[in-house]
Amino acid sequence: MNFHKLQYLKPEKIKQLQNSLLKNFIRNQIPYHPYYRNLFQKNNIKFSYIKKTDDLKKLPFTSKEDIAPTAKEPKKFLDFVLQPNEDLIKKHATFNKKIKIILNKEHLYHEYKPVHIHFTTGRTANATPVLYTAYDLQKLGESGKRMMDVLSASKSDIVVNSFPYAPHLAFWQTFYATKAANLLSLHTGGGRILGTGRIIKSIESMKSTIVAGMPGYLYHLIRTAKEQKADFSNVNLVIFGGERVPAGLRDKIKDFLKSMGSKHPRVLSTYAFTEGKAAWVECKEESGYHLYPDFEFIEIVDKNGERVGEDEKGEIVYTSLNWRGSVFLRYKTGDVTKGLFYEKCPNCNRTLPRIDGAIERSSEYKDFRLTKIKGSFVNLNAFFPIMMSHKDIEEWQVEIRKKNNDPYEIDELVVYIAPKKKANFEKLKNELKNKIISETEVTPQIIKMELKELLKKLGMETELKEKRIVDTREKI
Ligand SMILES: [Zn+2]
Repeated sequence: MNFHKLQYLKPEKIKQLQNSLLKNFIRNQIPYHPYYRNLFQKNNIKFSYIKKTDDLKKLPFTSKEDIAPTAKEPKKFLDFVLQPNEDLIKKHATFNKKIKIILNKEHLYHEYKPVHIHFTTGRTANATPVLYTAYDLQKLGESGKRMMDVLSASKSDIVVNSFPYAPHLAFWQTFYATKAANLLSLHTGGGRILGTGRIIKSIESMKSTIVAGMPGYLYHLIRTAKEQKADFSNVNLVIFGGERVPAGLRDKIKDFLKSMGSKHPRVLSTYAFTEGKAAWVECKEESGYHLYPDFEFIEIVDKNGERVGEDEKGEIVYTSLNWRGSVFLRYKTGDVTKGLFYEKCPNCNRTLPRIDGAIERSSEYKDFRLTKIKGSFVNLNAFFPIMMSHKDIEEWQVEIRKKNNDPYEIDELVVYIAPKKKANFEKLKNELKNKIISETEVTPQIIKMELKELLKKLGMETELKEKRIVDTREKI
């Protein structure tokens, strides 16, 4: 359906549309899916039993462990790729589809042959490949075009993509978005590829209006530009992606931009996970991420796997409605949101379903950054709001180490700080110490560092993602 029409459909119509898309997807595509074909059979579920999105409750969830490669089964991910063959097509394809395939074999390749790969970026689990076909790449472009529409971008916008060049969704979503939306763009590959200095020069000389990248890196980029007195007066939109946005960071970036001549800078965030194959965006700060109801169905479930009400907290569970290549049904993301809304967006009047912007990692997941320091559990994510929102901090890094690098010694929590030039370090040190103790119950050592040295330590120009929190205990 045309997005122009889709984005203002009444919520009942959206639900009807999702019911019919799901029914067709299960009937026409899932027979080609090795893992789910098996799962349906094992649980005595016929494809025809799934007629509407509520019927998904009959299906077990799919977890990261079901997909991620293991030493024993390194090619598990292939079981999640649609793989029609002659027999399956004979048995399951509609008459029209069979005719289409007979007339033109290219049609089959376009729809089902994998041509592009992204990898998941989990810290602990093995990276899982997610495959796209040519059909999917069109969808990736379409979702990017929609993102630009929700962001109110116009043809005169000029985009600088500073996501790290890698087989990850963030970089490629931005590439396909600018291509599909017909926007002039420079895909820099980030600090590690083009280098921060040249990215700043490009933003200036291209009079770039939109800059996209990871929050930690964009902070570094924009702060450095300010230091160099660069002209960023044309930048009016900063798009965050790739990771959670620490509280306080938006305001810091907006202040930098205003001081560099930008009149009304907006800082908006995207949400995505590799298995979902496309990213979603806010139209305004805290408006929630606007979904594409014809591409996916999102449900929110509680700890027991029961669906919760429309604006209740729970885990985000994803079902593909219209993708090929790797597809997932009832995939548990491990991300917890405060709610899913179907009512009209108060800011842009679109009726696309929205996921509340405050997304956290579920504590059941290993990559929830909980670690034991001196015997007590510390949530490492607690450092982000403390550090990012403090006005006297330029950059920071947290290191958890063993005293004297001796594995039998006690744990130490060290916080490296590059303070602002005019800051009173002793005062800052005491403030931070108190805040960290009250949040984590661990007393930190706070060490002052030169900005240049700290940037090197963070790997801002050398790593795919800066090393914000380092735990050296395991390496000893
Ligand atoms: Zn909106």
